[in-house]
Amino acid sequence: MFKEADIRPEELMKGQAERLAADIQRLLKHKQNFINVACPACTSTNHKQIYEKNGIQFVICQSCDTVYANPRPRPEHLEEYYQNSENYSYWNKYIFPASELVRREKIFQPRVQKVLEICQKFSIPTNTILEVGAGFGIFCEEMQKTGIFQRVIGVEPTPDLAQTCRDRGIAIIEKPIELVAFDNDSVDVIVNFEVIEHLFAPREFVTKCYDLLRNSGIFILTCPNVKGFDILTLGDKSSAVDNEHINLFNINSLARLLESCGFEVIEKNTPGKLDAELVRNKILSGEFDVSNNPFLKLILIEEWESKGEAFQNFLSANNLSSNMLLVARKQ
Ligand SMILES: [Zn+2]
Repeated sequence: MFKEADIRPEELMKGQAERLAADIQRLLKHKQNFINVACPACTSTNHKQIYEKNGIQFVICQSCDTVYANPRPRPEHLEEYYQNSENYSYWNKYIFPASELVRREKIFQPRVQKVLEICQKFSIPTNTILEVGAGFGIFCEEMQKTGIFQRVIGVEPTPDLAQTCRDRGIAIIEKPIELVAFDNDSVDVIVNFEVIEHLFAPREFVTKCYDLLRNSGIFILTCPNVKGFDILTLGDKSSAVDNEHINLFNINSLARLLESCGFEVIEKNTPGKLDAELVRNKILSGEFDVSNNPFLKLILIEEWESKGEAFQNFLSANNLSSNMLLVARKQ
């Protein structure tokens, strides 16, 4: 098991909080122009308010229980937010380098192994794999090292990040996914990790990925699961609920979205490992009160040393973690 502090060093997180606050203020300047949208998973417009955080209103779909920011910033304002984000620039400069080794070993290498296992399980050819949102290029780099795929390609529209990827020797398409095209449907596998929750129009994104895949190619994605322990317990106190995560799907609603775009969902689970510790840390910091919840107090505080890990394993194994992974095949 790894700890939250390994990937989010505490002293650095304070500096990040200030920058995030500045970013949010910039985003909220456009609040008059926010627009109403239907449920990103099932297109129902029947919803009710659930929480407000960082100035953003979240609603829950009455049909599929997806939680989503509504009204939400327009695509051009989201683009401007990410392009000029002080928070991301701080993250890139300080937090990522300070935690890169742990991330590589605890997140990216297991992720590569997981993707390879899935390819083997479903007998997927290993000619071309495309990662959408390649970031620093660690996944692509680790995948390339295995030599299993003939081509490992990253899609990364942010110029600084695209350059970092190229410096690592990764083939990068420096374009938004909407503008990516291949001569023929030659992509066997498309992966994206923690991307879909940020997008203004998830359905268009899924459809674009579907179009880029060859027949029987697979789409693998991870994102927060709003029906997992961390988010169900902490609600808007969960760090997964923030102004950037404007789509908080659950396993069934995300599967429904993928199916409505033509995919067959062939695997869905919640491999997340951090729920119990995330909630425990909110209790220890005084942000979440369990004085009226003796069960959580017992597991997460009093008997943490002996029961914490087993409890987390239970959550992960029973689709109750707040981080999920879906695999879908183009039909
Ligand atoms: Zn819905």
